[in-house]
Amino acid sequence: MHRLYENDEIVVFWNSEKCAHAAECVKGSPETFNFSRKPWVQLGNVENSEVWQTIEKCPSGALGILYRNGIDTPMQPENCRSIALDGDKKIGECDYTETESGICIYHTDVDPEYGRKGIAKRLVYKVLEYAEKNGKQISATCSYAVKLI
Ligand code: SF4
Repeated sequence: MHRLYENDEIVVFWNSEKCAHAAECVKGSPETFNFSRKPWVQLGNVENSEVWQTIEKCPSGALGILYRNGIDTPMQPENCRSIALDGDKKIGECDYTETESGICIYHTDVDPEYGRKGIAKRLVYKVLEYAEKNGKQISATCSYAVKLI
């Protein structure tokens, strides 16, 4: 399971398949990470620095964190894509095909001017989260998405 949690400043990624349940996150910031609550990650209860420091202790790499850098990454399921927006300017997208049973990610692209900010990862995670919430099988021919899956 892939999930994204965001506030104005940070984006938190979670890949449940990597989670070793060592509970370092729960010990480090119980107001943020609580497996008996939905959603189990809730941002805004503590300073972002506490969240950041806690995620750095995740032993499995199941949790990840990045700055948002003012970039939004909404889903556009009607166009079979997620997009990255800097204000009104589209600076990236992750495209997929969708059938009854599954989705296949075939293209992910971010304007090079916005590179090294984790935007491609956010775009792919958005699509993975969408697919999982809608009970779709996931596949990819996009090499970047293949690596993340
Ligand atoms: S610290 Fe990482 S591996 Fe441990 S429970 Fe939290 S997310 Fe899972």
